[in-house]
Amino acid sequence: MSKPTVKCPTCQKNQQWDSSNPFRPFCSERCKLVDLGAWANEEYQIPESKSASNYSSAEDEEQIDRDIPPTMH
Ligand SMILES: [Zn+2]
Repeated sequence: MSKPTVKCPTCQKNQQWDSSNPFRPFCSERCKLVDLGAWANEEYQIPESKSASNYSSAEDEEQIDRDIPPTMH
């Protein structure tokens, strides 16, 4: 009794088709997440670069400047 094999779309590894595999047609959860991440990756980078630019924004610098007492100058 042999099961059919399918190729994992992510890692191209041949695997036995298992109808109980919740990640099919992927071989594992990792490969499924990688495939999903392929298109989600771009969305991931947007909030990351946003928060990064927010961190060093002029607004922050203004706040820091206000914290320094005038006598410091
Ligand atoms: Zn795989």
